[in-house]
Amino acid sequence: MTNRIIRSKSAALFDEAKQYFPGGVNSPVRAFKSVSGPPLFIKKGEGSRIIDEDDNSYIDFCCSWGPLILGHNNAKIREFVTETVANGTSFGTPTKLGNELGKLIIENNRFIEKMRFVSSGTEAVMSAIRLARGVTGKNKVIKFEGCYHGHVDSLLVKAGSGLATFGVSTSAGIPPSFASETIVLPLNNPELLEATLAQHADDIACIIIEPIPANNGLLLQDRSFLMCLRMKCYKYGILLIFDEVISGFRVGFEGAAGHYDIQPDIMTYGKIIGGGMPVGAYAASAEIMAHIAPEGAVYQAGTLSANPVAMAAGYAASQQLLAANFYEQMAEKTTNFVKSIQAYCDEKSYEVSIPHIGSIFWVAFSRKHIQAADQIEAASMEKFKVLHHELLQSGVYLGPSGYEVGFVSAAHSEADLEEASAKICAAMDVVFE
Ligand SMILES: *Cc1c(COP(=O)(O)O)cnc(C)c1O
Repeated sequence: MTNRIIRSKSAALFDEAKQYFPGGVNSPVRAFKSVSGPPLFIKKGEGSRIIDEDDNSYIDFCCSWGPLILGHNNAKIREFVTETVANGTSFGTPTKLGNELGKLIIENNRFIEKMRFVSSGTEAVMSAIRLARGVTGKNKVIKFEGCYHGHVDSLLVKAGSGLATFGVSTSAGIPPSFASETIVLPLNNPELLEATLAQHADDIACIIIEPIPANNGLLLQDRSFLMCLRMKCYKYGILLIFDEVISGFRVGFEGAAGHYDIQPDIMTYGKIIGGGMPVGAYAASAEIMAHIAPEGAVYQAGTLSANPVAMAAGYAASQQLLAANFYEQMAEKTTNFVKSIQAYCDEKSYEVSIPHIGSIFWVAFSRKHIQAADQIEAASMEKFKVLHHELLQSGVYLGPSGYEVGFVSAAHSEADLEEASAKICAAMDVVFE
């Protein structure tokens, strides 16, 4: 592997950061543990590109892990945020801007009637789970292996030994009693789901799923499986939560619910909803949302929730997302990009496939149709490590783990995507040499 590009400033800043932050970072996957070299310290983003402290420029497919569907430093978002911040950052009161964003979102989403803004995806999910428990009066949660729902205690859980048993935590600091409130099932397995429900339905408050699982590879589910969840939840009096923190506003303004045309009971949002500022939300029918305080008995609050600056960013973003054909163009652009890389890999007989949906894609070092977490071979991550390193050298930035998906933004031009495709193909030659 060559080392043409200099990243000495990033390296020095990372050394310094280790004095202040555990592992030198404020969110673990940023530490580049699964790939080589120090993490990049980015000082600026513009359109499809990010620029690091050493002045290297990269075409960015991480896009801040998803929020930046309009690319970096979007002019309309920047202008509206600047205008809004001139009046102060937060008042701890309702604001007109909060109403406006709420209205814009609800009027353009057939699946929700009321919503509550929070400040992160984790907070949205945590609140949605509490709401589901409050509404049903039941305690247990079903989640799926390979779905991530933020760092909520009861959801940092994997399957225990033996299938369909209660979960064990994947983090220190979580009481086993919390983990035991969660049942973890494999994706795309309706039989096991039915068997579990037949046994435990009376205790289960909700089933939570990423309808487009995109945190552990891209594990696209059959619509029939999502529909099966829907019907079982009706049958057993369980609430269905679609965690749309990635898929919401990404595969369409109505997210995966709209894409698959399935009505969940509660939806959670994050990432794109804040236009690059810290915003999350959960949403449901007016009837379900009436359980939230001060209307109802389920308590949930937030000091900086719906602050005007964050609302301004979300509003300026949402307006642009509602432009005619926005999502069709994003999907078409992404499909062409993916196809060009796939065609090259096919021609060379490289073991690569690139599942994609909307503007989300994932580079899998396998030809299998992967729909569940246990189908991903850990060994394939060594190949990703080489790919990632080569791409940093040539000026393309992917999220620093082979389990992460990539995002195309509206700011990625055809020329950017052609350039990136050529560089990815060249990097594949190194991976498979
Ligand atoms: C990112 C993510 C979360 C957590 O959101 P944060 O804003 O990082 O707390 C939850 N669920 C899904 C599906 C996510 O992708």
